[in-house]
Amino acid sequence: MRVLVTRALTRRVETILREEFDAEFRTHDAPMALSEAQDALATYDAILPTLGDALRAEAFSGPIRAKLLANFGVGVNHIDVAAAKAAGLAVTNTPGAVTDATADIAMTLLLMSARRASEGERMLRRGDWTGWAPTQMLGAHVTGKRLGVIGMGRIGQAVAKRAHYGFGMQVIYASRSPKTLDFPARPAALRDLLASVDFVVLAVPATPETRHMIGAAELALMAPHAHLINVARGDVVDEAALIEALTAGRIGGAGLDVYEREPSVPPALIALENVTLLPHLGTATEEVRDAMGMMAVANLRAFRDGIPLPNPV
Ligand code: NAP
Repeated sequence: MRVLVTRALTRRVETILREEFDAEFRTHDAPMALSEAQDALATYDAILPTLGDALRAEAFSGPIRAKLLANFGVGVNHIDVAAAKAAGLAVTNTPGAVTDATADIAMTLLLMSARRASEGERMLRRGDWTGWAPTQMLGAHVTGKRLGVIGMGRIGQAVAKRAHYGFGMQVIYASRSPKTLDFPARPAALRDLLASVDFVVLAVPATPETRHMIGAAELALMAPHAHLINVARGDVVDEAALIEALTAGRIGGAGLDVYEREPSVPPALIALENVTLLPHLGTATEEVRDAMGMMAVANLRAFRDGIPLPNPV
């Protein structure tokens, strides 16, 4: 079974792929362009793609040999799943493996944004710190505050639990379907949530429905001291509207792990002090990248052995 692995993976995962499959590895560690995606779909039995690979509708318009896209990652917004399925491919992903690490990054961003950690570190590194003072760099207190989670799935719930058990926060959430939760949290409509919380965490998938779910109108509903944290996908937020809101001080701050046109980050965003910017670190630990790779391998094995795929999308 010929498998194309589109990006460098951890040593453990690459070793297993080499041992068990006729695996080929792209030599440059950058997203696969559309023409490469078309070639790959015509050449390999399965592809192990990831974030940014151009598996949009046009990729599936030519000859297709592949039968499986075993995606590395839970988000599949770089794949036109409907077009893939119409062309006879199955698509799988790696849910669960990413949950805790991404929730940890959400809390990292929430705390950094609230407590002005990036701004303070920049000041110190510039040599501008003149010493402790009672009114220096006062940030927002986190313990006991209200958290709004948008998208109460795996990551949303992991964030909510951290916030509730670790920081005594009151959790409010907006989700598509009713949830049965084993910790206290109150459902609310999106607009009511935005207007009533101190921190908002976005944990929805990127879909046509969630594109620019947070734009100027939604940001205007947030309290002037409230912070927006995005660990979902960049295009869930209208980045231009966010820059305007942050520049005008209409919200307290933002913490971002994802961007609309990664890896391009607007200079206007970089110039702002009241935003914390991470380079899409959500799942970036060795253990988690191993676990994600092993889930993709499990899907490849199931496909090879003709048994049900563990993680179909
Ligand atoms: P999940 O378990 O499927 O949770 C997503 C939640 O969003 C679900 O509860 C879903 O509602 C809800 N939702 C979907 N569309 C919605 C809408 N229009 N309005 C309100 N809620 C909506 O997925 P997950 O594992 O938590 O991952 C969520 C996303 O995080 C991924 O798709 C990925 O893009 C992103 N992610 C980012 C990183 C990173 O490195 N920063 C890492 C991992 C994942 P239902 O329960 O009704 O389906």
